[in-house]
Amino acid sequence: MKSDFFGITSEASAFVADAEASLREAFEALAPTREANQCKVLEAFAENRLSDTHFGFATGYGYGDAGREVTERIFAQVFGAEAALVRTQIVNGTHALSLVFAGVLRPGDKLLYCTGAPYDSLRPAIGLAGEGAGQGALAEYGVSYGQVELTPAGGIDYAALAEALEDPAVRMAALQRATGYSERPAITIAKTSEWARFVKARRPDIILMADNCYGEFLETMEPTDAGVDVMAGSLIKNPGGGLALSGGYVAGRKDLVEKAAWRLTCPGIGGECGLTFGQTRTTLQGLFLAPRTVSDALKGAILCGEVFERLGFPVFPGAKDARSDIVETIRLGSPEALICFCEAIQAVSPVDAFVRPEPWAMPGYADPVVMASGAFVTGSSIELSADGPMRPPYNVYFQGGLTYEHAKLGVMSAVQRLSAAGFATL
Ligand SMILES: *Cc1c(COP(=O)(O)O)cnc(C)c1O
Repeated sequence: MKSDFFGITSEASAFVADAEASLREAFEALAPTREANQCKVLEAFAENRLSDTHFGFATGYGYGDAGREVTERIFAQVFGAEAALVRTQIVNGTHALSLVFAGVLRPGDKLLYCTGAPYDSLRPAIGLAGEGAGQGALAEYGVSYGQVELTPAGGIDYAALAEALEDPAVRMAALQRATGYSERPAITIAKTSEWARFVKARRPDIILMADNCYGEFLETMEPTDAGVDVMAGSLIKNPGGGLALSGGYVAGRKDLVEKAAWRLTCPGIGGECGLTFGQTRTTLQGLFLAPRTVSDALKGAILCGEVFERLGFPVFPGAKDARSDIVETIRLGSPEALICFCEAIQAVSPVDAFVRPEPWAMPGYADPVVMASGAFVTGSSIELSADGPMRPPYNVYFQGGLTYEHAKLGVMSAVQRLSAAGFATL
């Protein structure tokens, strides 16, 4: 692939092509998961008798919206869950996760994160270090918080976890599948299942919760297939397939999903009300495309990892390591290189290619974040995107790509610009 328009030299193009040639087997190995997930989605559509009559929508209160109800049954089935809440009114992944915490936990309960610190944007919702004070953070309602750090290798520290589970106040144990803004590996389904068995063996009363953002369709099972009681995620990441305009989901045990729904609307109403605003078709078509989209994004992440490993940057995961999210982390080491990388991705975006990304103070994040996202759906990170907080070691998080070809062009653009600016040597 070459592009004079984007200023990609034959040197940069050849460098990426060389890396790509070494990945044939890794790419072929993705097919069985993609095929199984495509099949699983189509089975759920067929079993729930999805029909074009579902693409209409109710108005007003939205009682009995057939499209909304079938969508939630389909998501539940695909995720191996009893029930699901799938709503455009859930504004993002943070909101979906926060609904689970606030809906399920009661004063005196403790939330225990078992994979180190939660994703940055959840800090105010939980009330970490006084964040979210006066805004109704969990801490204000008397819900306490504890955290078990990961081992240096990025695994769950079972000795420390066993100790933390001795606190009878622990009511919910949480696991974050994706790396978030860190360098650790994602938590695979096998590891999730091991964690679930470990906690339940000691404390069957504890509710297991997973932050599944970026994890959907990476494997043939989801956390709710592996013993997790409830999980949540964003529709403008993996499961929306690039088409969902907005929204989030909660899936899991029926009683827990209901509790999240009572928080989303109010007690007594729960999931009975709420419009789809005509988004049912798009949401489901996105789910239909998601297994393929996620697989292409994953190919892009693997290529990115291989290329930047060859350039001598620390990358997480390594190009050939096991994956359970779509994120590739590259430790760029300087604020200038981080901004340069994001500019390179922005420049080959389908929308706003002429824009220069600049660090800004995003609501819910502690440090300014620089972000390349020239997406059809603003902020969507299943579309090709790159971002990172402006703090050492200046990691960039590269993810998405609705097509592998776009992700590859993004990698070439990054190689080109970083080498031209002297941050990388071909
Ligand atoms: C993206 C993400 C979230 C939620 O982010 P939103 O931008 O609110 O959708 C939460 N946890 C993880 C691990 C994520 O990657």
